[in-house]
Amino acid sequence: MIKINRVETEQTRCAEEDLRLAKENGTTYNTKNVNIALREVFHNKCYICENKSSTSYQIEHLVPHRENAYLKYAWDNLFFACAHCNGIKSDKYNPIIDCTKVDVEKKIAFRKEGYFGADEKFIFKALDSDIETKNTVELLEAVYYASSTVQKEFESRLLRKHLREALSRFKNYIREYEELDTKEEKEDMECLIRNELKDSSEFTAFKRWLIRDNAKFYNDLDGFLDEG
Ligand SMILES: [Zn+2]
Repeated sequence: MIKINRVETEQTRCAEEDLRLAKENGTTYNTKNVNIALREVFHNKCYICENKSSTSYQIEHLVPHRENAYLKYAWDNLFFACAHCNGIKSDKYNPIIDCTKVDVEKKIAFRKEGYFGADEKFIFKALDSDIETKNTVELLEAVYYASSTVQKEFESRLLRKHLREALSRFKNYIREYEELDTKEEKEDMECLIRNELKDSSEFTAFKRWLIRDNAKFYNDLDGFLDEG
């Protein structure tokens, strides 16, 4: 989970107009304009797990609406989540961090511990004692290590596989970058690494924390983190 900038565009204005009308008429918030706008704002990835490979995305209410008309139709309360995460969050873990308003990476550290041949584990470490941080950590743990049903267990396993592959590709880019000698060669690799660290990339929180945790080795990459 990273901070998402809820930018205002022509598309989000259309979505907000849809929501205003839907609220007035008591119809669904699940319109084409709302879906397209959410997809754009959230970079086509689930805001909870940051997976871009899911085949099923849904509109998620940050604060469960429980038929409260304001919460049900408020643009600021609508988020883009994969079916796996939406199903697990449901109306539980309330309140969680609002990633459109708060810099999540300052509140939670995202890490992978262990390596091939040893026990691998994804860790979500709370960096403060806020209730929102605590609930978000619990939600992330539930999403990555679901056990409620056999299906959820399979989905979590697949999610962890995607994350592991993404991190391993990213580490390879960094290793190559460190081994290159000339400035020209480094520039090409720099471009790849910058793309991997963008808000729109998948599993960005884990990749950025990998750089932060190894800042003394990668101090020349540290500057890539604030580019969004
Ligand atoms: Zn997800």
